[in-house]
Amino acid sequence: MSRYLDRAYAGLDAYTPGEQPQDRTYIKLNTNESPYPPAPAVLRAIDAASVADLRLYPDPACTALTAALAETYGVQPENVFVANGSDDILNFAFTAYGANGRRVCFPDISYGFYPVYAALHHSEAVTRPLREDFSIDPADYFEAGGMVCIANPNAPTGLSLPPDVIEDILRHNPDQVVLIDEAYVDFGATSVVPLTACYENLLVVQTFSKSRSLAGGRLGYAIGCADLIADLMRLKFSTNPYAINRLSLLAATAALSDPAYYRENCARIAQTREKTAAALRTLGLTVLPSKANFLFASAPGVDGETLYLGLKARGILVRYFSKPRTRDFVRITIGTPEEMEALTAAVRDILGPGETPPTA
Ligand SMILES: *Cc1c(COP(=O)(O)O)cnc(C)c1O
Repeated sequence: MSRYLDRAYAGLDAYTPGEQPQDRTYIKLNTNESPYPPAPAVLRAIDAASVADLRLYPDPACTALTAALAETYGVQPENVFVANGSDDILNFAFTAYGANGRRVCFPDISYGFYPVYAALHHSEAVTRPLREDFSIDPADYFEAGGMVCIANPNAPTGLSLPPDVIEDILRHNPDQVVLIDEAYVDFGATSVVPLTACYENLLVVQTFSKSRSLAGGRLGYAIGCADLIADLMRLKFSTNPYAINRLSLLAATAALSDPAYYRENCARIAQTREKTAAALRTLGLTVLPSKANFLFASAPGVDGETLYLGLKARGILVRYFSKPRTRDFVRITIGTPEEMEALTAAVRDILGPGETPPTA
């Protein structure tokens, strides 16, 4: 830290992204990327001419992509906001609705960026503990007194809430923005995008990073009532109007042209998830019932860091967490069936022979 840094940022505990190792080839199950490539239309969309066009600024209004998203979700373009990754949208939302002492309410175990943005924007962060089974108690968010921020499915648990429960939270917070982060919704949970037509306080955030295989393209979007979207636009155009590059705009628009491809990918990933969960349970692991493209699992007698290190030594990367309630767990991204078989074999190897699993 230099002596010039504003004291307000001196204590910031920045978000730690998952490893992106450059030294050797791992089976990478640590950052919830898709194991499958983007749709063929995406690969065709980026050609020599589009690269040559990089001399020009991109369309700051993202007109074509916004129209395609509006069509995909059955809303109007004025209900859609596009940004450089959904992290960018979370940042704007915390700025707009939770900065400078205003309250932001989220679960104690959730996406690691919420507390980081809360600290960055000097929010009053109010965390609500998950229940013993890691589920969210909706009543914890009734009359929240500030913006509510919930990932559905939640990360890193993978557990999801049905729309009527989210509607209950919306109804109890008419004067607060309720942000539902649906980064993983396409893998088996139900989206609340349709509720944006009825609730002016609902902001739904999604991303191209996970289900649409474009993590490297950096594209997120929000859907909500026109006034909320206008707020986010105001912040985007006060920060970096050209934040989304031309190639990513082309890639994302092309991705939306082939929904069947992504539906099949998501179905395949969900199927691999269920198979992997069953295999890990047979080995004696506790695996939460996930609706996301990852599993949250703990092995008997082995903490998360030990399991992580054992897997890393065997060429497989997963993620572990250090909080008391999550330190026994690892989060395992769903890869290809072959990758998950390698993972299961490695876990079996680490637990060793003679570890007869307790019968559930
Ligand atoms: C991955 C993730 C994001 C961020 O996605 P980007 O669009 O890549 O920035 C947001 N929220 C949750 C819960 C995530 O897991």
